[in-house]
Amino acid sequence: MRQKLVVGNWKLNGSLLNNKALIAGLLERLKGINTADFAICVPYTYLFQAQNLLKDSNIEWGAQNVSQFDGGAHTSSISAPMIAEFGCKYVIIGHSERRALSNESNQKAARRFARAVDAGLTPIYCVGETLEERAAGLAENVVKNQILAITHGLDEIVFERAKQVETVIAYEPVWAIGNGQTASPQQAQQMHAFIRDLIAKVDVDFASKVRIIYGGSMTPANASALLAMPDVDGGLIGRCALLADDFSQICKKASMADQLYLVA
Ligand code: PEP
Repeated sequence: MRQKLVVGNWKLNGSLLNNKALIAGLLERLKGINTADFAICVPYTYLFQAQNLLKDSNIEWGAQNVSQFDGGAHTSSISAPMIAEFGCKYVIIGHSERRALSNESNQKAARRFARAVDAGLTPIYCVGETLEERAAGLAENVVKNQILAITHGLDEIVFERAKQVETVIAYEPVWAIGNGQTASPQQAQQMHAFIRDLIAKVDVDFASKVRIIYGGSMTPANASALLAMPDVDGGLIGRCALLADDFSQICKKASMADQLYLVA
């Protein structure tokens, strides 16, 4: 069985002082829990702090994006090897806010994905449709093209490496992010199963192992129902990741997944 994974996406939030308190709160609440995996993805400037506070704990850390280049004249960019130097396990790739703000194509996201796996990082590759795309019946088509960018758009060697470093897919319907309007457990399950089937067409074994997590207004109130879905392997959490209590509650529900399946 795939162990659940809960990742906090701090986005453009934090300060040295607040991070210290938030991380201390998480460490205290999640201490000793090892039946799910936990991580926080922080702004680049706080990677060093996260590394110092989280090393030797059961909470991993990571970044929220990575350059498609490994070096050169790319002012303000941060490369995958640089991120890896801070002991990161994860990096978020292709978050819808990045796709929208920088007009990011599937091909560009796939190149970032390749740089991440080359550096030994586990990419959390985000896919998801907008409200307009769903209303037009295009949701599966949009997600399919986003997935094909990594299953068919990359060198075979990169894809092999992606399997070794794990790879996580995050289904994040854009219409559910940051607004309290979550996808129903059935909507999430349907898309997660669709994604797993797409990956199985390329590699059945990888498809059975890859963790597909859900993002979009997951809270302590709706987490159990979402996490009880057989293809929902965890959550990518925005707003609730900034509150130690809320984030820990979601993590604890994920850690009791066996019981969730029993009641589902
Ligand atoms: C996100 O931005 O990845 C996210 C899921 O945010 P929220 O939980 O606030 O919807």
